[in-house]
Amino acid sequence: MNAAPEDQLRLLDVQELDSTLDRLEHRRAMLPELAEIEALSARNESLADDIVRAETEDSDLGREQAKVDADVEQVRSRMQRDQQRLDGGQVGSPKELENLQSEIESLHRRQTELEDAELEVMEQRESIQNRLDLLRKELTGVEASLAAAAQRRDAAFEEIAAETEKAMAQRQETAASIAEDLLALYTKLRASSGGVGAAALHRGACQGCHLQLNTTDVNRLRDAPADEVLRCEECRRILVRTAESGL
Ligand SMILES: [Zn+2]
Repeated sequence: MNAAPEDQLRLLDVQELDSTLDRLEHRRAMLPELAEIEALSARNESLADDIVRAETEDSDLGREQAKVDADVEQVRSRMQRDQQRLDGGQVGSPKELENLQSEIESLHRRQTELEDAELEVMEQRESIQNRLDLLRKELTGVEASLAAAAQRRDAAFEEIAAETEKAMAQRQETAASIAEDLLALYTKLRASSGGVGAAALHRGACQGCHLQLNTTDVNRLRDAPADEVLRCEECRRILVRTAESGL
């Protein structure tokens, strides 16, 4: 293939711009904020689940507490009524008196049991509510970190987009005047050679594979016409001669 030496040199500029665009794309995909946001989102989700579970537990305990309270109240008023009957001297027979006293005793025991249960529910609730406070505090922190990371990500995206736009415009302008067949070969090689389709020959070394050419190859390249499109014998990339090629 033949191409004007200026086209070949311009191809090196296109290569540089394409490499810049590749780097920008890689930077965008590997932005540390993306991994950070993913981890924070997962934590956020798991905290929200924990909070819902703790809130459910708390409201279950609230209902249990209300039920024990009502039971305590019931036992208390029953005891009061019994005591009034006892104090009022309305009880006739000794048998009836004995029954009443025994009932009051059993109500006392029941009251103690219920009060213990009430205390236990209150302690459980307190521990759940402490846990809820901690979870909500952590959630607030995670949400703030998420917002900050999203802001940093968006700023980086914006910067990358601006640089990409600039490089793309330059690439289009530089590539516009290069012969189509040379550009097509470059595009094919670039796709199959890790993003580098054209490399400069620098002091006798291919800048694509960084191998030093042997004397025979150097001699052959020296004699080649300026408009011949050269290829590296090692990596097959387009080899472009420059003032620093060492030929
Ligand atoms: Zn090479």
